Amino acid sequence: MKESTINRQWLLRERPKGEINTSIFEYRETPKPTIAEQQVLVRTQWFSFDPAQRTWMEPVPTYIPPVALGEPMRASALGIVEESKHPDYAVGSRVQGLFNWADYIVAEPGQLNAPAVVDPAIDPQSALHLLGATGLTAWAGIHRVGKVQANETVVVSAAAGATGSIAAQLAKQSGARVIGIAGSAEKCKWLTQTCGLDGTINYRTENLSKAFEKLCPDGINVFFDNVGGTTLDAVFKHAAQRGRIVICGQIAHYQAPPVPFVHFMQIIVKSLEVKGFLVFDYWDQAAEAYAQLSKYARASKIHTRYDVQRGFKNIPETMLRLFSGKNNGKQLLENDTL
Ligand code: NAP
Repeated sequence: MKESTINRQWLLRERPKGEINTSIFEYRETPKPTIAEQQVLVRTQWFSFDPAQRTWMEPVPTYIPPVALGEPMRASALGIVEESKHPDYAVGSRVQGLFNWADYIVAEPGQLNAPAVVDPAIDPQSALHLLGATGLTAWAGIHRVGKVQANETVVVSAAAGATGSIAAQLAKQSGARVIGIAGSAEKCKWLTQTCGLDGTINYRTENLSKAFEKLCPDGINVFFDNVGGTTLDAVFKHAAQRGRIVICGQIAHYQAPPVPFVHFMQIIVKSLEVKGFLVFDYWDQAAEAYAQLSKYARASKIHTRYDVQRGFKNIPETMLRLFSGKNNGKQLLENDTL
C-alpha cells in the first residue's frame, strides 16, 4: 500500500426516506488520525455489507445506537493494525469489528468498535462470512432457534443470500427437505444445482401460496425468515401443526412500512412457535458453530459465494445492491488502499 496521510470517509449526510440512494452519503477527506493510550489504528481492507446497516440509519435506537448524522457510516469491516498502543494488539495483526466506512479506524477495546483479532489461518472473506457473523447467524437460527430435525420440511427466504444460503445448507446437512425462496432464476438454479436444495421458488415470478401447496403438501415445519411481509404471511397459511418460525431478518420492511398479516390467526390455530433472535445472543457458541461450518466447507458440503466489489469510491453503490437483490452471495468490498 502507498503510504497515505489522508483518511477517506463516507458520512451519513441525511436520514433515508424509504429506499436509500447514494445521495444520502457524503464523501470527506480528513488527515490520518493519531491514537491515544489503549487505542489501535486499523487500516481497513475489507468492508462487509449487511442489511442491518439500513436499520442503523433510522433515528431509532435498536440493539445499538443509530449512526449520527454527519458521522462516518458504521460497517462491519476487517483490516490490519497499523499502530498500536494496546498490549493485546500487535502491529501487523488482522482485526475485525464494527468499524466505519473509512480508510482508518481508531479502535478501542470496550467500545462499540472494539477490534477482535482474526485467526491468521482464516482468510478475510471467510472471516466476514462463513466463519463470521453470517455463519454464526445461520447456525444459531437452524440449530438453536429452529432446532431443525431430519425429515422435516424447511423453507428459507432470501435463500441465495449470505445468511440464507448457509442456513439452507445446514438444514440439508441435518437431513431436512429444504425449499429456498429467491429472486431470480439464476439464484434458484445455484441453490438446487450447487447447494443441493430440494426445490426453489422464484418469488418474483411465482405465486408463493400455490408453490407451497405443490412443494410442501404436508406443511412447513420450520421457516427461516430473512424477509417478512407477504412471504411470512404465506408461510403462516402453509405452516404445519406446531411449526417453528425463526425470525432472523425482515428485509422487506427495512425500507417500506410493514404489511398487515392476513393469516396471523394461524399462529394460534396451529400452535406455531415464532421466535426472533440476534447473532449476539450466540457468541458464546461461536467456536462450536465454526468447527462444524469449517468441517462442512472442507468436505464441500457447504458452498459459499461472494460478490466482491472494489474501490472505496464504490461503497455507497455497493450498499444498494443488497436491496435490489443484485448481490450474488455475501456482499463485500475490497478497499483500494491495499
Ligand atoms: P443477503 O441475503 O446476502 O442479501 C439480501 C437479500 O435479500 C438480497 O440479495 C435479496 O435477494 C433479498 N431481498 C432484498 N430486498 C428484498 C425484499 N424487499 N423482499 C424479498 N427479498 C429481498 O443479506 P444477509 O446479510 O445474508 O442478510 C439476510 C437477512 O438476515 C437480513 O434480513 C438481515 O437483516 C438478517 N440478519 C439477521 C441477523 C440476526 O442477528 N438476526 C444477522 C445477520 C443477518 P433476492 O434476489 O432473493 O430478492
